[in-house]
Amino acid sequence: MKKPFVSLEELKEITEEYPTPFHLYDEQGIRENARKLNEAFAWNDGFKEYFAVKATPNPTILKILQEEGCGVDCSSLTELMMSDKVGFSGDDIMFSSNVTPKEDYELASKLDAIINLDDITHIDFLEEVAGIPERISCRYNPGNNFKSDNDIMDNPAEAKYGFTYPQLVEGFKKLQDKGAKEFGLHAFLASNTTADEYYPALARILFETAVKLNKETGAEIGFINLSGGIGIPYRPEEEPADIMAIGEGVREAYEEILVPAGLDDVAIFTELGRFMLGPYGCLVTTAIHKKHIYKDYVGLDACAADLMRPAMYGAYHHISVMGKEDQPHDHKYDVTGGLCENNDKFAIDRMLPKVDKGDLLVIHDTGAHGYAMGYNYNGKLRSAEVLLQEDGSTKLIRRAETPDDYFATLDI
Ligand SMILES: *Cc1c(COP(=O)(O)O)cnc(C)c1O
Repeated sequence: MKKPFVSLEELKEITEEYPTPFHLYDEQGIRENARKLNEAFAWNDGFKEYFAVKATPNPTILKILQEEGCGVDCSSLTELMMSDKVGFSGDDIMFSSNVTPKEDYELASKLDAIINLDDITHIDFLEEVAGIPERISCRYNPGNNFKSDNDIMDNPAEAKYGFTYPQLVEGFKKLQDKGAKEFGLHAFLASNTTADEYYPALARILFETAVKLNKETGAEIGFINLSGGIGIPYRPEEEPADIMAIGEGVREAYEEILVPAGLDDVAIFTELGRFMLGPYGCLVTTAIHKKHIYKDYVGLDACAADLMRPAMYGAYHHISVMGKEDQPHDHKYDVTGGLCENNDKFAIDRMLPKVDKGDLLVIHDTGAHGYAMGYNYNGKLRSAEVLLQEDGSTKLIRRAETPDDYFATLDI
């Protein structure tokens, strides 16, 4: 059974200070997980995790990860601005954008971030708006040339991202002509996979591609970026990814492919989002209504504007009715928010203990792509974010929006 990282007693205290709904984060869990990742890749001297800011764009969270040795992966102007304010600069920032506006490249260049180009046409575009830096990265899309022997990869040929292989060769040569000296290679081929084979399989593709590129263009390969995609067990019956086994699998591929080709000092980078934060956040909410028509409904004070994944992808998020974890789960409910959209359901036909009005519910695994995907539809206001610190005390790390915030962009 999935257990929340916070007890009912603790939540009762916390909700006296902060009204529901809010996202709660577990500092200890975040730190321990980041340390495990660093340990899994400690065999690689240059290893660095660049946390995907889009997953949880909160300065306090970024600061915690910075203290654990992580950099940041940004994909927009405001993510760059936030990272700059938190104190990231230069090598600590990866800029992996696509359909990139001019202003974004200008700031990335000013911060001396590592720019990861999404397309061959961006070489001229970047040169024009900010100049070509000495260290640069390109994103690879293997398309149909790549067939995995299992089903862990998404279909790259359907994805909008990256360069084809011939474009990589042409692009590397062009970048060399324009003064680039150190190259990186990046690819993102699957999302939310808990298969331990994914990263080693992706690493093999990138390592082999790097060796070929190095031979064909003479480009110096400084780093290989395995990007994001390591998943988390949203469902109680799923197993968590074994990060030590994943690190070891990547090491074996490194020894087999890169080292014999003389590429033995290539740094390995990751850009994990979900794996870094997902399990270490939850949405705390109160049951405010019950309704019985053709089905039984529990209505919450949170809605899809606080957590879009169930409405958008039909994603499963586990729900704990606090204090009733050990009671029989013999009631079937649709658990809903109050948007005027029938897909505003956190769960459909979910077996839960009997829910009463006023019960506190914890919706699990909202630490990544949770608050971040929030929106203001139906005039709903974004919730607060609260950090459960290592000493058990709490800290408000983002206040809830007020109606004034909602009206701030209007002439009214
Ligand atoms: C979203 C994203 C990530 C993080 O993905 P997760 O699935 O959260 O690990 C990393 N890199 C890029 C370029 C992304 O767009």
